[in-house]
Amino acid sequence: MARFVRRLGSALLVLIVFLTGCVAAPTAQERQFTAMDTFMYLTAYGPQAREALALAEEDILFLDDLLDVTQESSQVYALNHRTASTLSLSPELTALLEQALLLANQTGGAFDPTVYPLVQAWGFTTDTYQVPTQQTLQALLPLADHTALTLTDNTLTLPEGVQLDFGGIAKGWAGDRAVQLLRGCGVTSAIVRLGGNIHTVGTKPDGSAWRVGIEDPDTGNTLAAVSVTDRAVVTSGSYQRFFTRDGQHYHHILDPDTGRPADNGLTSVTIVGDCGARCDALSTALFVMGQERSADFWRAHRDFEAVFIRTDGSVAITAGLKDSFTLMDGYTARPVEVLE
Ligand code: ADP
Ligand code: MG
Repeated sequence: MARFVRRLGSALLVLIVFLTGCVAAPTAQERQFTAMDTFMYLTAYGPQAREALALAEEDILFLDDLLDVTQESSQVYALNHRTASTLSLSPELTALLEQALLLANQTGGAFDPTVYPLVQAWGFTTDTYQVPTQQTLQALLPLADHTALTLTDNTLTLPEGVQLDFGGIAKGWAGDRAVQLLRGCGVTSAIVRLGGNIHTVGTKPDGSAWRVGIEDPDTGNTLAAVSVTDRAVVTSGSYQRFFTRDGQHYHHILDPDTGRPADNGLTSVTIVGDCGARCDALSTALFVMGQERSADFWRAHRDFEAVFIRTDGSVAITAGLKDSFTLMDGYTARPVEVLE
């Protein structure tokens, strides 16, 4: 009997070890670094995670070198300081510009990659902030015009003075490429945080959805969360980069029609969708459009969802987020309008 109990005991022990082995969460692999002027934080699970993250980091750093408007060695810098009006672009820059122009067209220029002369006038790329005169803005406004660009295959033609800035789309695009690389390596569970751009691969290792926080623009606390799998969640807000002069708040999302920081009653816009580049460009564009025009845009497309935080602190979400959006503790009294 004692022998039987001992044997049963060891069988149970083997079973427990086996079961624990089966359910034990795979260890997380992480990489943290600074690129594209922001903090990047990549987490992936599974046996391929470490190598996959190294590749993703390498790619993000490569894109940063390609796109940095302030780095003399970057391709975008060379483009902005060109001597000829026709240029051959690398395959990467061609692909990005194609997407950027598509989004500029769709948003009626609310997102416009030719906004750079205006961004520069405010000093946002160099952190030498200043308020340009109305005369300066008037002189620069005609240069912010994506329709002046002609891209045929990889050949770009653009008028004198027109300059490009991919700051409103680059992190989303880099996130798409990172996710593609991770998947290509066999990773099925990962979360990639590139500043305000979050990209998720699959579910969490335990099979549950990722919960991505949305910041309270006033305090930096987490105001709400959306549950997502295989989605990008991208936020643009007037609180992310700004300066104050004579009591006035000036932020980095410019309305290409006025050359001034967009001021349409919003403090942040979060876009949830499949394509990170599209979400990134749309978060910038919808911030410029304001909630009413944005809601019309959403109704016309319906291939993404959005969360708007208004200057009065109230929240609006598009109908597709009804079941996945939750207010966090301390914020449950916030009014939330559901846009249908
Ligand atoms: P962040 O870069 O903080 O995530 P956004 O995605 O909204 O925020 O991008 C803002 C950046 O994009 C600005 O810093 C500027 O370089 C550029 N930008 C500003 N206004 C526009 C605009 N209307 N269209 C396209 N790019 C813009
Ligand atoms: Mg953006």
